[in-house]
Amino acid sequence: MCDKDPNKKFFGKTISPGLGHGKTFLYRRKPWRFNEIQDIEVSEIEAELRRFELAVAEVLRDLKNIAEQVAEEIDEDLSAIFQAHMAMVSDKGLNEEVKKKINEEQICAGSAVSIVFGRWEQRFSAMEAEIAREKADDIHDLTQRLVLALAGVGAHELKENLPRGAVLVTDRLMPSDTIFLSGRNVSAVVLETGGKASHAALFAREMGIPCIAGIKGVVDEVPSGMLALVDADEGTIIINPDQDEKSNFQKKSARKNQVRSKVRARSHKPAITKSGKVISVFANVGQKEDVREAIKNGADGIGLFRLENIYLGRQGPPDHHRLLKEIRETLFDARQLPVFVRLLDIGADKPFPFKKKQREPNPSLGRRGIRFLLEYPELLMTQLAVFLQLARIFDLHVLVPMVTLPSDMQSVKDYLKQAASQAKTAPMPKLGAMIETPAAALSASEINNYSDFLSFGTNDLVQYTFAADRENGAVEAYFDDTHEAVFRLLEIAGREAPQMPLSICGELAGREEALPKILSCGITTVSVVPASIPRIKEAVRQCD
Ligand code: PEP
Ligand code: MG
Repeated sequence: MCDKDPNKKFFGKTISPGLGHGKTFLYRRKPWRFNEIQDIEVSEIEAELRRFELAVAEVLRDLKNIAEQVAEEIDEDLSAIFQAHMAMVSDKGLNEEVKKKINEEQICAGSAVSIVFGRWEQRFSAMEAEIAREKADDIHDLTQRLVLALAGVGAHELKENLPRGAVLVTDRLMPSDTIFLSGRNVSAVVLETGGKASHAALFAREMGIPCIAGIKGVVDEVPSGMLALVDADEGTIIINPDQDEKSNFQKKSARKNQVRSKVRARSHKPAITKSGKVISVFANVGQKEDVREAIKNGADGIGLFRLENIYLGRQGPPDHHRLLKEIRETLFDARQLPVFVRLLDIGADKPFPFKKKQREPNPSLGRRGIRFLLEYPELLMTQLAVFLQLARIFDLHVLVPMVTLPSDMQSVKDYLKQAASQAKTAPMPKLGAMIETPAAALSASEINNYSDFLSFGTNDLVQYTFAADRENGAVEAYFDDTHEAVFRLLEIAGREAPQMPLSICGELAGREEALPKILSCGITTVSVVPASIPRIKEAVRQCD
């Protein structure tokens, strides 16, 4: 790097928080796809089929080694990603499809793999659910492995060339790339694309590597070997920083280290306000890894388990046995703590994959959450029956999403009683309404009659209070979750249901500056993303 190099700043979104600095390492994936179909002679078919089988065996061997390495060096659970890849690559149907293509169309194995796997990748990318798009990444990764194995290319470029302590700049991170990051102390990762829920993001967070995504064109603008300061808390990367930027970064880094060690040491202790009130700090989770992180960070409970992950991206709704198994496994580590599991919250931005699409003029104001479940009681009853069984193991609380009328809660309570009498089981889980609409907040005194607790879902409460779609950036300015109107609704609901335990699980719960107001509405449990638990506990301790 020389001083004449231009100073550049880029903005992206946080995938894994933290600060990191070092020299950039630009990783451009080698083109490996078969853009042209390569024909073969009939006499070559046998050899080509054999080559394909050998490539599959080689990839399986590699994946097995990686899974073992990940289990040993990073995390046992994360190694499941590579075990899933093994299952995919040895899938009989897929393999037969590839062989059929080689045989019938007389094309080389690489072309056949590209076509067959590529089609599956496209199908998954076209699906709306993020979880399906992650699957597309997995298939992309596997296709690359197979094609490279067929071409006889063994080593991964990152394995060969990635310098210690570098800031990795690339287009996207595949699970196969992440394995080379752990041992080499990568300081940070900067990506053109990548979702918070991607496997790569899981790895980055698990390994504590700061990571930013969503910087379009960064691979074309940042060469290798430049000094880079990555602030993944803010989502910024500065290339070739000036003296001021360097010293600000150093100061921030030193401050963070100090605060982190203090906060970490206290995160397993209860959060008590200055006036002596104990506030429970719970975690919002969607999968097992979140639960693990929550416990590691000192969560007092699980305040929102979103069931949607279990439903989206599969052929049909899970049956009783599968649903029970998945929830039990996901929450197993939290079995000593109170857990709040939400009934399936489908509709609006999370379209239901199994039922025929029934177009609605405005899905956000249509059949979503509990409205949808009351229309399909068989879905509701399966969940309630599972929850009844789970209540034997867990201190279980059931959250009802998108309640508007007291009768919504009355119906769920009736169904729960019916499910309990069929199952002849005790104890009953506690039942709580999510207050996500102004009507529900203003009817808290009646909803009270059918609830054991209330939980404010402020993401939706704000959307419906300000008539501003939470997914629509154009009306972002109206989506103000710290507006006085929101606190008034919280306060009214608290006043109308004076004996009710009140919790909050929307994003507002994670805003330190809003905590004093939140607590003054009588809320005693705040539920936030696992990474925020130590910070929010500390903020509670500063409240009067
Ligand atoms: C909310 O609406 O605040 C909430 C927690 O639920 P979700 O974000 O899943 O809709
Ligand atoms: Mg909601």
